[in-house]
Amino acid sequence: MVSRVIPVETFDLVIFGGTGDLARRKILPGLFRRFRSGQMPEGSRIIGAARSDLDQAGYRQMIAAAVAEFGGEEKHDSKGLEAFIATLDYVAIDAKGEGGWAELASIVRKDVVQAFYFSVAPSLFGDLAERLHTNSIANAQSRIVVEKPFGRDLETARALNETLATHFDESQIYRIDHYLGKETVQNLMAVRFGNMLFEPLWNNHYVDHIQITVAETVGVGGRGAYYDKSGAMRDMVQNHLMQLLCLIAMEPPSQFGADEVRDEKLKVIRALQPVEPHHIVRGQYDAGYDGKSYREDAENPRSFTESFIAMKCEIANWRWAGVPFYLRTGKRMKARSSEITVVFKDLGHSIFEGDEARHRNILSIRLQPNEGMDLQVTIKEPGPGGMRLIDVPLDMSFADALGPDAEEVPDAYERLIMDVIRGNQTLFMRGDEVEAAWSWTDPLINGWEARNDVPKLYDAGSTGPEDAMAMMHRDGRKWREIKA
Ligand code: NAD
Repeated sequence: MVSRVIPVETFDLVIFGGTGDLARRKILPGLFRRFRSGQMPEGSRIIGAARSDLDQAGYRQMIAAAVAEFGGEEKHDSKGLEAFIATLDYVAIDAKGEGGWAELASIVRKDVVQAFYFSVAPSLFGDLAERLHTNSIANAQSRIVVEKPFGRDLETARALNETLATHFDESQIYRIDHYLGKETVQNLMAVRFGNMLFEPLWNNHYVDHIQITVAETVGVGGRGAYYDKSGAMRDMVQNHLMQLLCLIAMEPPSQFGADEVRDEKLKVIRALQPVEPHHIVRGQYDAGYDGKSYREDAENPRSFTESFIAMKCEIANWRWAGVPFYLRTGKRMKARSSEITVVFKDLGHSIFEGDEARHRNILSIRLQPNEGMDLQVTIKEPGPGGMRLIDVPLDMSFADALGPDAEEVPDAYERLIMDVIRGNQTLFMRGDEVEAAWSWTDPLINGWEARNDVPKLYDAGSTGPEDAMAMMHRDGRKWREIKA
């Protein structure tokens, strides 16, 4: 297996919010890895643009420290880091005023790929988009990258789309959902559409149900105040889990092109049915031996915001009618684990005398940790004594299968930024997709707000509230174990 670095064109990447948490923790360490791999062509530049009163040397120092703190193994490459840092420039800028814009205009080149990463609060997106034009910095080929959250409901998402559309064409807008940049998430498409084995079985004739779990061990900690206005539904389901659901449920696109893939995802979202209140379980973590309760973390003793949600969804189309999709995500859970599981139907009839066990194939795709796939199959139990059957996993960890190449896999942010430079929108959300997702989410949130629904408490370090278990048991099913 050979890892190949596909070169991109020379670029100027301006990171608005270049001194912020996301830029220092993810974007710049990621870019350093791309630089080291040789993917960042000579002459390309990264320009930090933020409010802090820094000069070029100060910014370079700040980013060197950030890479040392947040980079992986590559941070020990001091020579490489020095060369990378030399590509950095900085402009102190005011998104809401005129300060710094003339300077930025004089730095950004017109004859290379231009990308502008809006790593700032969404309330500044409109100001940035407008000033990029009034100062004649952006042109019809420039790309902008916008971070989540993309709105907090349909109305705000629509307003954001309209604001951006005033200055940029949809083909220039890259809405990031970093889940789409994860290696395994793309592998999901490779598994589905690159193998003969699975696609014929991928429907309501053979699939009993599908589970998607994204469990985190961390609480809301330092971002409690922000999170309290959002909750698990807005923070995780409307974007990340929805994207996973789309990839697992969509029809095969005619080709792996940006609009072909996004058209199919949009159809899935539009086919999602409203969820009955008794098919939604919201939870809030209680204090544990090693941490505060959600309400303490959020500094809101009367908060009704959910840090956990489990729900049973249905997709009304020919392929999936009658197949439940169970989604679950939460904070302060037992283990950090993200997994998509396809549970196939039971064997209708067993030819093996005395075999009363229930045999079913289960395909699980692990996003983290230990990215890989596991297919449960039924085989004969070894040894004499007739045909006794057991279910065993055919387990494939990508790290084992790919060897050292697995180490070379770029992380989500690196991959997505390089896609922006390449002009490939396949792994980014289109405006209509985001709006459709909010159209489905809004009535659910409005529903529980109108009912004054109070989230159920769950122990920190557990698998969530009892009610989530009960929801599955009522259907004669059970959640997959959450394990690291
Ligand atoms: P942050 O508060 O750490 O940084 C904000 C940045 O914006 C700073 O560089 C600041 O100088 C700049 N800024 C603020 N006001 C400005 C103004 N008027 N003009 C110019 N620059 C200004 O925020 P962050 O955590 O880095 O998040 C940035 C964006 O990314 C937000 O939209 C956030 O929701 C999103 N996001 C962050 C994370 C994360 O892990 N931090 C994850 C996903 C999405």
